[in-house]
Amino acid sequence: MNEYAPLPVGWLDLITDLHIALMQHFPEVAVTEMTSDRGWLHVRVNDSGLDPAERFRLDRLVQGFVTQSLTTCMGCGSHHGRDRGERKEITCEDCEES
Ligand SMILES: [Zn+2]
Repeated sequence: MNEYAPLPVGWLDLITDLHIALMQHFPEVAVTEMTSDRGWLHVRVNDSGLDPAERFRLDRLVQGFVTQSLTTCMGCGSHHGRDRGERKEITCEDCEES
């Protein structure tokens, strides 16, 4: 079952890039969950068909995108976003003001 909660508009590029990277490097891996409700990109994949070395590579790949999500504004996608802690949101100064 796929569980796709609505993801922030500002993360669309990031998420598209992640999907492309997965298709290129791990076409057999299915994303089972992708959410933003913790304040960062949370991704779960079905990696049961991979050997440990591949799993490690996949983990590194996904982790890179998760790290990027921590500074990507959920509103406009700029890379100047920062964590708004208690709101579990990442926004840039421009989006905070408007
Ligand atoms: Zn913004």
